[in-house]
Amino acid sequence: MLRLDPLPTNEILGMWKEFQREEFPDKKHVRGFVYVHTPYCSSKCKFCMYESEPLLKKGDLSAEKRDLLNEALEAAEAVEGIEFDGLYFGGGTPTIYEEGDFDDVVSAVRSCFKLSGRAVSTCEMNPNSATPGKIISAVEHGINRISLGIQTLTPKVLEIAGRQEADLKQTAELVVFAKKCGVSVVNIDLLAPLPGETEKSFYETVEKASGLGFDTVTLYCLQNLGLKYSPFEMAMNEEALGGWDRIKEIFTKGLERSGRTISKESSKLTTCLIAGNSENLYNESNRYELHSRNPVAVLGLGRNSCSNLFGKVFYKNSGRDGAALDSVGRRYIGYRKDIFEEALDMILLHLRDGVGLPFQHFESIFGYDAEGFVRANFGMLIDRGFISFSSSSVECGIKFADALKFFEFSKTIKQLIFSSKPRNRLKSGAE
Ligand code: SF4
Repeated sequence: MLRLDPLPTNEILGMWKEFQREEFPDKKHVRGFVYVHTPYCSSKCKFCMYESEPLLKKGDLSAEKRDLLNEALEAAEAVEGIEFDGLYFGGGTPTIYEEGDFDDVVSAVRSCFKLSGRAVSTCEMNPNSATPGKIISAVEHGINRISLGIQTLTPKVLEIAGRQEADLKQTAELVVFAKKCGVSVVNIDLLAPLPGETEKSFYETVEKASGLGFDTVTLYCLQNLGLKYSPFEMAMNEEALGGWDRIKEIFTKGLERSGRTISKESSKLTTCLIAGNSENLYNESNRYELHSRNPVAVLGLGRNSCSNLFGKVFYKNSGRDGAALDSVGRRYIGYRKDIFEEALDMILLHLRDGVGLPFQHFESIFGYDAEGFVRANFGMLIDRGFISFSSSSVECGIKFADALKFFEFSKTIKQLIFSSKPRNRLKSGAE
């Protein structure tokens, strides 16, 4: 189940083709995304938990680009009939490509895939490598959401993290330019708590960032993402930022002068808060997520990208390393899964977020009796009071603030279920 094995490219492409042909109770619930990964940044920030490495030789991205475009072309054929709900260029730093290469990547990928009417196409941009030319390319190829990664504006914190400061004037100009070019949503990303950040400096970061004219600001919680500095580093001064609730209070206060508030939509998320005036443009139906409470089919492209095909497979492109010399520069590793495991995951992901799961929603996707399925498979959590039932939903009595802890918990629970007698599965109606 959780062991990562090599998966031949043909097998992966075959699964995407099969996914399109197959029918299950209510396929329309599955949201589809294309995710394009750039595995490089100009330098590696100490707090970064993403798959990226510093680009040692500027401009040396030709092999990366060739491999990515080959992969996109091959995948496009396998997913020809799918309309995706989102296209997301992330990383790493997509804007690390020079203008010509950036345009080639965005245009080639965009022309390979069909997008649905509700789709949002996002490109992450680093304020230090984004340029008007790259914004024009993005807009010309249908990008309607740009996300500028600022993270913090506190010099001391940036120094500890080894990250270059974003130039505020230049960032504000990029926001104005992007809006002028017709980008629907310009977002900026902030991150907390970081070592060296105090309540005062965090408040100042939020306040200064509020003056940049963006549509939304997304605050990611470093602790909730499971990556922590040592307690020593976090307590480097007496006024170190406290827990998520306190951070949320300061964030709200820092936004006051700009008139922005935290959106209702984001109160359902565990790892971030979104504030601004465009919640309808990036919400639960079209927000890119690799692991979601709702079914997703994510087609990842590029070295180190991950893909998550509902009911079939989870895999990662581990790149050229270990690939045969005559290969096309990618090697997939992953594990196969089935609809039964997706049903388990749906329950577990609702537990992660401490959110109730309506019986009717579960049943319309899987065709199983929700209460019967949960009773047959999660008895140990019901006995401990972590799961209960109302008349219409499964109620979840825990919530995970730490992604790594949740991953370990979920792995253990699934191992217990998979090693138990098959009658659990039969009772669920899964076979
Ligand atoms: S720029 Fe972003 S992706 Fe790159 S190392 Fe820093 S935090 Fe990570």
